[in-house]
Amino acid sequence: MLTTIQDSVLQLLPARKKTGQNGWTSFNAPCCTHNGESADTRGRGGIKTNAGAVSYHCFNCGFKASFVPGRHLTFKFRKLLSWLGADDLTIRRLVIDAVRLKELVAPEELAKEPEQEIVYEERQLPEQARNVVELANFYIIGDYNNVPAELLAAIEYVHRRDIDLGKYEFYWTPEEAYNLHRRVIIPFYYRGKIVGYTSRAIADGIKPKYWSNHPADFVFNLDNQQPSSKFVVVCEGPFDAMSVDGVAINGAEISDIQVEQIDRLQREVIVVPDSDRAGRKLVDRAVEAGWTVSFPVWLETCKDINEAVVKYGKLFVLKAILEARETSRLKIELKKKKLYA
Ligand SMILES: [Zn+2]
Repeated sequence: MLTTIQDSVLQLLPARKKTGQNGWTSFNAPCCTHNGESADTRGRGGIKTNAGAVSYHCFNCGFKASFVPGRHLTFKFRKLLSWLGADDLTIRRLVIDAVRLKELVAPEELAKEPEQEIVYEERQLPEQARNVVELANFYIIGDYNNVPAELLAAIEYVHRRDIDLGKYEFYWTPEEAYNLHRRVIIPFYYRGKIVGYTSRAIADGIKPKYWSNHPADFVFNLDNQQPSSKFVVVCEGPFDAMSVDGVAINGAEISDIQVEQIDRLQREVIVVPDSDRAGRKLVDRAVEAGWTVSFPVWLETCKDINEAVVKYGKLFVLKAILEARETSRLKIELKKKKLYA
């Protein structure tokens, strides 16, 4: 069982290959044309296996991918599998096999070589930013008439978006730079530390709609994902994520690093795109990553998850997301065409 992934990879290798004394098997690399290089004809792709672990290295385009029993199948490794000719179903099966293997690997083995953590520098919120609930309480204890109108407007904005103020933090600042006094500031937490933020205009006409300061590949709300959860909903914006306790990628474009971070949760990943045309990009990447995509019924009347939750409530929205999920590439393509026609 420990060698399931290793065996499957070895079966996918081309017939023309040779194994050297150093244990590396070399063959024409399948990766280069996908990475902007010309096709390899000199056998510069190499693979080495060891007790279930697989390492791949290309000496032509520099692509590397590896698998160690107990870890999840990384996005790069899955790309390698598809370039070697594995179909979607096989890759899906191997993803599940990798999760099962984890149970066979002793915890001390896993601890020996922990998966490389993504490290983000801590960043500060704008200087005068204060938690809206604490700030409102402070004013109310004093004199209600003194509550700044913009602070009240900010709190009211969060209420209108139907976000639980007991669960998610919002900040506000009287600073006028970037119109921050007319925005709600959403801190971006990673492993309990603030590593950035975004701020959302609380009225139309304030430009830009979002003013942000955070690492490019940040995935919002990873800290709030429960270990026992069977799935994670991936959406575009932080308000969508807060509405259903999912994660957000801050736009319709998702980087390889973001894909990796979400895959590390080791559960079913369900992408819910926005109904505007940019949402198509996210659907294409979800298919590439081997994720589930959902086109819930309310996408016909609502542009995103948050709008749907405000209109229909969280339970209905989540139920519709689960009912409409698709894993077949063909069905996802058909529904994508229909939605973005
Ligand atoms: Zn290559």
